[in-house]
Amino acid sequence: MSPHRETRLSQAESLTYLVTGGAGFIGSHLSELLLSEGHRVLAIDNLSTGRMSNIAHLLDHPNFHFTRSSIMSDVVLDRLASESDIIIHFAAAVGVERIIDNPVETIETNVTGTEVALKAALRYGCRILIASTSEVYGKGTRIPFSEDDDVLLGPTNKNRWSYAASKMVDEFLGLAYAHEFGLPVVILRFFNTVGPRQTGQYGMVIPRLIGQALRGKTITVYGDGTQSRCFCDVADVIRAVKGLSVHPDATGKVFNIGSEEEISISDLAEKIRKTTDSSSDVTLIPYDEAYAPGFEDMQRRVPNISRVGSLLGWKPEINLDATLARVRDQIRQEIG
Ligand code: UDP
Repeated sequence: MSPHRETRLSQAESLTYLVTGGAGFIGSHLSELLLSEGHRVLAIDNLSTGRMSNIAHLLDHPNFHFTRSSIMSDVVLDRLASESDIIIHFAAAVGVERIIDNPVETIETNVTGTEVALKAALRYGCRILIASTSEVYGKGTRIPFSEDDDVLLGPTNKNRWSYAASKMVDEFLGLAYAHEFGLPVVILRFFNTVGPRQTGQYGMVIPRLIGQALRGKTITVYGDGTQSRCFCDVADVIRAVKGLSVHPDATGKVFNIGSEEEISISDLAEKIRKTTDSSSDVTLIPYDEAYAPGFEDMQRRVPNISRVGSLLGWKPEINLDATLARVRDQIRQEIG
């Protein structure tokens, strides 16, 4: 894409975005934000982990168009890309539990889906942002993780790492399209993202533990609970994505997106007990029992967010307490 077109995108008042995984957790929030700013959104989702209830309130919007299809359909992707300025490629197999249970689906969806999206972007000169993950830092111990750090993954017989490896192939492929064909590609390395509409069904710790606390069930902390994460509110994450989607200087680069507020999972469980007023017990479950024998977790995962910060002036604004309250209120409403 010419620099001229890149500048035009950053100034355009109304663009057409193709959001793959548009009925998913992050995709539905992003679609909502883009519509509210006057853009047109074409969403595609096969509803494997995405849900119609996430986008039910958008279906009547004149600028929102939903297609139920696999991301691996060349024909559908071609049609949607032909109408789009920018592709936000979120569709992927996600959730540690799901990945462990369905490794073939994980690898095929993540690698083939991205290839299909990139080919379609290239045919129509679309700018494309590809969702990757902090999992690619693997067992790295140099905290915080910076985009150009070395990565250290576990062996191929532990299929947890197939997610990181498949996303690394996506990153390599995207950057190769940028390098060889001049396609404007941006890589988004999401750290733990959380907020309303995320389901605990596939392992994500916050909705799962809040659900347990609100139902009076035992709160399950895996391992010894000393492992830590940084949780970023989805409302902050989508602001970063939107900014990067039109910034000409983001092209060809990788960006960490996440919060720097670190908490151990044991402390998180305590916080959740308090914020839900729950009398549930907290129990420690060995990883072998929770996932699979030989499961390897990451002990710490903290992003260096200076790259996205200096480009966009972005930093998270919603702290963990506020996010937990948002998720609690939504799950409370669902439980009724
Ligand atoms: N976890 C937990 N209890 C659960 C689900 C997850 O203690 O019911 C832990 C998990 O082992 C990990 C952390 O919470 O250490 C975050 O897990 P999640 O699946 O949300 O994201 P990850 O960071 O592993 O991608």
